[in-house]
Amino acid sequence: MKPQLTILGGGPCGLYAAHRALELGAAVTLFEKENTFGGLAAGHQLGGNWFDLGVHMLHAFDSEIFATCQEAMADERIEVPLKSHIKWGGKTYRYPLRGRDILAGIPPLTLARCLSGLLIAECDARFGDSPLGADAESALIELYGAPLYEFFFEDFTQRYWGIHPRDLSAEFVRRKMPRLSAVDVFKNLLEKLHLSKARNATEGALRFETLHYSKTGSETLPRSLAKRLKEKGASLHSASPVTIITHSQQLITGSNHGPLTGGVLSTLPLPHLIHALDPPAPPDILHAAEQLRFKPMTVYALLVKKNRCMDALYTYYRDRIFHRVGEPKNAGLIIRPEGHSTLIVETTCEIDDPKWSGAALPQIIRDLQAEGLCQPEDIVSHHLIHATHAYPIFAKGFEPHLQAITTYLSQFKNLRSTGRQGAFTYPNMHSAMRMGATAAEELLTS
Ligand SMILES: Cc1cc2nc3c(=O)[nH]c(=O)nc-3n(C[C@H](O)[C@H](O)[C@H](O)COP(=O)(O)OP(=O)(O)OC[C@H]3O[C@@H](n4cnc5c(N)ncnc54)[C@H](O)[C@@H]3O)c2cc1C
Repeated sequence: MKPQLTILGGGPCGLYAAHRALELGAAVTLFEKENTFGGLAAGHQLGGNWFDLGVHMLHAFDSEIFATCQEAMADERIEVPLKSHIKWGGKTYRYPLRGRDILAGIPPLTLARCLSGLLIAECDARFGDSPLGADAESALIELYGAPLYEFFFEDFTQRYWGIHPRDLSAEFVRRKMPRLSAVDVFKNLLEKLHLSKARNATEGALRFETLHYSKTGSETLPRSLAKRLKEKGASLHSASPVTIITHSQQLITGSNHGPLTGGVLSTLPLPHLIHALDPPAPPDILHAAEQLRFKPMTVYALLVKKNRCMDALYTYYRDRIFHRVGEPKNAGLIIRPEGHSTLIVETTCEIDDPKWSGAALPQIIRDLQAEGLCQPEDIVSHHLIHATHAYPIFAKGFEPHLQAITTYLSQFKNLRSTGRQGAFTYPNMHSAMRMGATAAEELLTS
């Protein structure tokens, strides 16, 4: 008898876990609640054009995973040099943001304060032994100094997450914030003043990355992976939400789709997994699950009558209602009709607030106009794409809740909860895929 693996959720993590399980000789069944596979990376065909939830491009950092994706996408894959910007204080900088770019937007006096704060923070970190503070605010001050925290990070974090840094965990800073080192900033300064040699070519090359995309956007990768899985005998079920997960004697024994034997790999949001358990989890675990929150996101997907709106794949904004706008045509996406382009306008939000409901459209259009991306009369149509679980929120004090849930789930010997939602973390697609492969290996080889 072949070993069995049931996978809950058909995003990048679940799909790649299925691929690895087939390689290991297992019989694979996968349940996905949506009509299409891909999760956050799924494509959305709206009004004849493809839209992503953000411009979703594959990184080639994990060579094994990249080779599988490359083979699955075949000649649909296109290579795109990374070109992204951040607009801040009326100026455009490259993104990922470099230290000197953050500092370049600061008035001279504030810059002097920020630099000295950064230097003191850096010396403290090098010669002291202080662990990161109790919350994101103290962690950011320890890392970057108070002036830079007040000037850059405090307002930006509050606007992006809708949460003040003092209410976010220090873990958030470790996993999600850009690193800025005083040493790098001074090196850049010296380089600029011709007082030090320019950095070598290898280091320079790392600043340029090739990303992987397709003429129909992010939909190609999950579609082609799912097609290959089916060809190899996996049993994939879309439009099949998992709402009940039964267990007995420390084993998962079934779901609302029927009994199951063998391993179970869940990529469901952790709170959903806990709430689906039957018999129910103990009250303290149900309570812990309620404390794990996710930041929703609404994408305003616009068709515009303009050949090109920006000179980048996407641009980050610090002072606008949206935090990022992508123009996937610049990455090779085919747009219909000719002479048009599409804009993917990303806003973090709360469910049912004006950004979520679409009521923020007039403000979105005003901000797009103010940024010179398009005029109101250029907008031909708009659609909304929602994600309820776009980002896990590392709220202050989330760690013990996550730990309690992880410890509780570890009693189920045939279960692994993984991926972005199942591990409550921030991977890119290739890292989520690697998490899926590792969990499949653990379940099938233990
Ligand atoms: C705006 C944005 C832009 C991004 N851009 C990039 C990028 O350019 N490149 C990159 O590499 N990564 C990018 N990412 C990250 C990428 O989206 C994730 O790493 C990846 O989707 C995680 O895969 P996953 O399978 O772990 O989770 P998900 O993609 O969230 O998949 C989970 C799946 O589980 C399903 N599910 C949930 N509940 C149930 C249920 N009850 N029953 C059955 N199925 C269920 C969901 O429908 C979903 O399909 C981006 C993320 C965001 C938010």
